[in-house]
Amino acid sequence: CNSCGQADTENFGNFGNEQSGGGAGVMEMMAEKLERKERTTAQTGVEMKNEMEMIFDAVSSNESFARVAVAAFVSHLNPTLEEVADIKTAVSEAVTNAIIHGYENLYGYGKHGEAKPSYLVVHPGKVRLRCLLERGVLHIEVQDEGKGIENIEQAMEPLYTTKPELDRSGMGFAFMEAFMDDLEVESVPGKGTTVRMKKKMGTGSWIDREE
Ligand code: ATP
Ligand code: MG
Repeated sequence: CNSCGQADTENFGNFGNEQSGGGAGVMEMMAEKLERKERTTAQTGVEMKNEMEMIFDAVSSNESFARVAVAAFVSHLNPTLEEVADIKTAVSEAVTNAIIHGYENLYGYGKHGEAKPSYLVVHPGKVRLRCLLERGVLHIEVQDEGKGIENIEQAMEPLYTTKPELDRSGMGFAFMEAFMDDLEVESVPGKGTTVRMKKKMGTGSWIDREE
């Protein structure tokens, strides 16, 4: 007991007795509760604001880390496979751009004669990745403090690339635009680049639920 400091042993016996309805009853109640919560969220669209931010080295091995991290961040929304694939592609493209164009760190990206594995490379550049989930919309921001882009409009044109020798196809921004609902690029030469993308989540599952 809390006030007298004596062990209140009788109370321990109350766990799992008939009053609580037994194990199966509790499980049923929990399942029902969860289902009700899921239904309420689906109907009202109420989704808490959730934000995350990470800063990582500008090395090629962190490209997969970044895309998996964003996929994990949205996993509780039960996204469709297509949504996850779209988001992962967009994040990959933006992060790769920060590493190979922003910081010109080409290790691990298969330039002739540069076979050194990327995990052996120490690079001072950092990439900042920020995600925000608000009212069912995923906002992604990928930022570098690299060399920046002189002509953003030209850079965003499909097939435009400044690194054709690396077998780059110049389709990164086009993919980000196609797979996300909104894309904005801000850049200052010599200072760095920020890519902002938005995607409305749950469009697929809304259709399923309404049927
Ligand atoms: P791909 O993405 O198809 O491999 P790419 O990276 O050249 O080729 P985009 O991703 O569309 O194509 O980018 C177009 C161009 O924009 C790049 O070639 C580069 O010159 C410039 N660019 C893109 N992101 C950055 C960045 N973060 N910093 C500096 N320049 C960038
Ligand atoms: Mg690219």
